Amino acid sequence: MYEGPVQDLIDELGRLPGVGPKSAQRIAFHLLAADPADVTRLQEVLQRVKEGVRFCDVCGNVSEEERCRICRDARRDPTVVCVVEEPKDVLAVERTREFKGRYHVLGGALDPLSGVGPDQLRIRELLARIGTEDVREVILATDPNTEGEATATYLGRMLRDFPGLSVTRLASGLPMGGDLEFADELTLGRALSGRRAV
Ligand SMILES: [Zn+2]
Repeated sequence: MYEGPVQDLIDELGRLPGVGPKSAQRIAFHLLAADPADVTRLQEVLQRVKEGVRFCDVCGNVSEEERCRICRDARRDPTVVCVVEEPKDVLAVERTREFKGRYHVLGGALDPLSGVGPDQLRIRELLARIGTEDVREVILATDPNTEGEATATYLGRMLRDFPGLSVTRLASGLPMGGDLEFADELTLGRALSGRRAV
């Protein structure tokens, strides 16, 4: 245990995902030794991200405006919507350069044991979009793990009755149990282009 603010900093850093006690300590001492200007910049960026970043009204991706860059981009095909769990998954799919449609970010996956049901996800918004926009294909790109599969199955059932809508799921080949973001671009790109109807 260190005294006062140093220990507070280590404790706060240790609460971040993927940062264990040792890393927290290393980052804390790095910041202590860093140029004050660097620390100020980090501080400002943290503040700006909480004040200035919001979620896109249409797709739920992180955005600086009411609608995100992808929803505003007229070159993106609005008839194909790729459904993902988190904003980081949008980045993963974008990195493949295989996808030219739009996205819908659910904000997680169904996980009844943790209290996440359909109402906790942006499913109602997805159904509303499909009802009002000219969407012809929905690609279910939830994570290849238990919760992601359960979510895809649930959505597949919900979307079955929309006339003229095809619902597809990423092809197998993604590492099971993993997170979309951990798949390399090539594998994810192949899973995307090899998607099949559900
Ligand atoms: Zn958007």
